[in-house]
Amino acid sequence: MKRRIFSSHTGDEVDELAHTINIMLDRIEESFTKIAQFTADVSHELRTPVASLKTGIEVMLSKDRTAAEYRKLLYHSLVSLERITRTISDLMELSRSDSGSNILHLKSFNLGNTLKEIQRKFSPVSDTKNIVLSNKEFPEVEINGDKIMLRRVFANLLDNAIKYTSPGGRVYISLEDRNDDVIVSITDTGVGITEESLRKIFDRCFRVDTSRSGETGGSGLGLSISKNIVEFHKGRIEVRSDIGVGSTFDVILPKNLINS
Ligand code: ADP
Repeated sequence: MKRRIFSSHTGDEVDELAHTINIMLDRIEESFTKIAQFTADVSHELRTPVASLKTGIEVMLSKDRTAAEYRKLLYHSLVSLERITRTISDLMELSRSDSGSNILHLKSFNLGNTLKEIQRKFSPVSDTKNIVLSNKEFPEVEINGDKIMLRRVFANLLDNAIKYTSPGGRVYISLEDRNDDVIVSITDTGVGITEESLRKIFDRCFRVDTSRSGETGGSGLGLSISKNIVEFHKGRIEVRSDIGVGSTFDVILPKNLINS
């Protein structure tokens, strides 16, 4: 994998061809490294909850237990199973979008109403965490898009915003209507993301603090799925962040996407 074609540095056609082939080999090597890293990360992501399930059950079976102890084990087993299920469905989502079979079902819908629905769904979660979840009055704007997929993007960003914000903080949603596109911004007063992490935030399986993954339950796949979905809509996601101050994720989408 490391071997390359010898370059004579003469600048002639053969030398140029050797150079081009070497660049291609570099790219192939990079892809292989990424795939190997991804496989290792996913294996780890699945192995941890499976190991915790196995240990829990073995300990419980080692002697007779009370009903309360069994109930506690079942509760912890369910948490592990939910984490496994989430990772598997995220992986399926990624592979569907990678293979291009994620065909968009485009329909015109009111984006403000959809954002309100998602906000309502997350209210109990933010209330429990004592986080104020609010929004700026949404303008009346219709966009042509895949509602189910875009709901997934906004739900994922909102879920993160709440997850990475401490009690007493705030999460704010806004929708701006521009000429040909719209911007949905989700701002939080959370932990923030370092400049170095910002560069990798949309990479598969990337998590800033892996030691917290059990606690926050993330697989590190959410943002990369969201990016895929937004790019399918010919849009983009941008992020700004300050450590200890908070983060803002902007989703910029064209209003009148046409099926191509
Ligand atoms: P996860 O399932 O771990 O949340 P994501 O792909 O959604 O995976 O996010 C990747 C990582 O980016 C997270 O693990 C977290 O470290 C960081 N992150 C995402 N959103 C935020 C946010 N609003 N504030 C701080 N960090 C964030």
